[in-house]
This record gives sequence, structure tokens and C-alpha cells, in this order.
Amino acid sequence: MLSLHPVDIQEGRTDEMPLDIPGITTEEMERFLDFQLRHRLPCDDERALVMILRLGHFFQYEAAQVAAATALERLPSFSAVSKYALGLKFGIRRWVIDGFTALVSPDKHCQLTQAEVEQLELMPYHAIVQTRASIEAHRRSIAYTVPPMCHAKGCLSDIDCGVAWKLEWKNKVAAHLMHPEEAIRGQAILSMLEEKEIHEVSKTCRLGMVERIKESGVLTYEDQIIEQALRSLAPPE
Ligand SMILES: [Zn+2]
Repeated sequence: MLSLHPVDIQEGRTDEMPLDIPGITTEEMERFLDFQLRHRLPCDDERALVMILRLGHFFQYEAAQVAAATALERLPSFSAVSKYALGLKFGIRRWVIDGFTALVSPDKHCQLTQAEVEQLELMPYHAIVQTRASIEAHRRSIAYTVPPMCHAKGCLSDIDCGVAWKLEWKNKVAAHLMHPEEAIRGQAILSMLEEKEIHEVSKTCRLGMVERIKESGVLTYEDQIIEQALRSLAPPE
């Protein structure tokens, strides 16, 4: 019978027989030990900080994870893609929420490069594509369906007011919803309708319509689509 005693294991006992930990490079280990033993944190080196974060997570050293995450957040180069991808890998919920929201929000106009898609991997990338598609389909449906004007008491002219409302929606609201580079959030469109006068639309009619749209939730439904996706990507703790 063959047995293996600890005394027989030579790996990791000498420099000539190093212990091989699968999936961890020498550079990563050195960076990690530099932090653990010598308290060296390379604050402006994103790549090195990710190594410390990864090994901190692997060995479950909270101090290393917190220090690396805090330093990464301070780096101006730390992108939404990195935040989202690393947040998912290392269980940092706030990064998943911030990164994903920035990547799917219609007002951010985020174009992903091939390198970023590769960094994201299939499932996280699919979640972005699917959420963007749902938001776009919803926006298209609102852009081309003008909510019928419900005139308030004292409207000066039902006909002029109704026509002007329809034109405003088709020319401005639809453009804000569908513009490839200048689209704005549904919430911002709502504020714009609430605050800005529309030529020939009675103020009371306009404000009445804003209330109706608010109640229906149609312009803020995109926020719900994002929240829904985040419920499975970053479940509440
Ligand atoms: Zn009216």
C-alpha cells in the first residue's frame, strides 16, 4: 500500500523545490507578500492593485482586499468595465451596481472595445447586451406612441394645444429617447417637460400630463429594467 506522509512532501521547503499554487504567478505572489509583509501598496499601479485584490480574495485576507479596492477606486483610469468585471469576480457589490449602471445607462453612451468585451467574459457581457436591448425597445415604444393630451380646465384651445403637444413629443421627446449620442435619462425628460414651457400648450394641460406620465412610470421604467438585472447580478446581502 502506498501512503504519503507530510515528511515526504518536499515542495515549498526550499528555494529549489518551490510550492506551486496553480493559477497564481510569481509576480502576483510577490506583490501580495509585499503588501502583507512589507505594507507596500502600489497606489498608482492598477495592474498590481488588481493582483493584490485577487490574492487577498483568494486567501481571504480582508485588509488586503479593502486596501487594494480603496486604492483602485481612487485611480482616474479605473473604468466602469473593470469595476463591473472585478466586482463580480471578487464579490464587491457596490462595484457591480456602479459599473453595470454606468455601462447600460442610456445617457452614458458607452461603446465597448473588443478588449473590454474580452475582459468582461460571456455572462457579464450578455447581461449588458440584454439590458441595453430591453431599454432600447422600451424607449422606441414610447418615442413613437404620443400619450394623448388630456386637456385641463381653462385650456385656451383644445386643437392648438393638442397639436403642439404632439409635435413636442415627436420632435423633442422622441429625439431625446432615441438619439444615438445625445439620449438623456427618462427622469431628465420628465424634469424637462415639467420645467420648460411648450409653445401653444397650456401650462395646466402640460403639468397635468406630467403628473399622468409620472403616475404611469413609463419614463422611469428603464430604471426598473436596470434594477431588475442587478437583482440577479448583485443580490441584496
Ligand atoms: Zn390643453
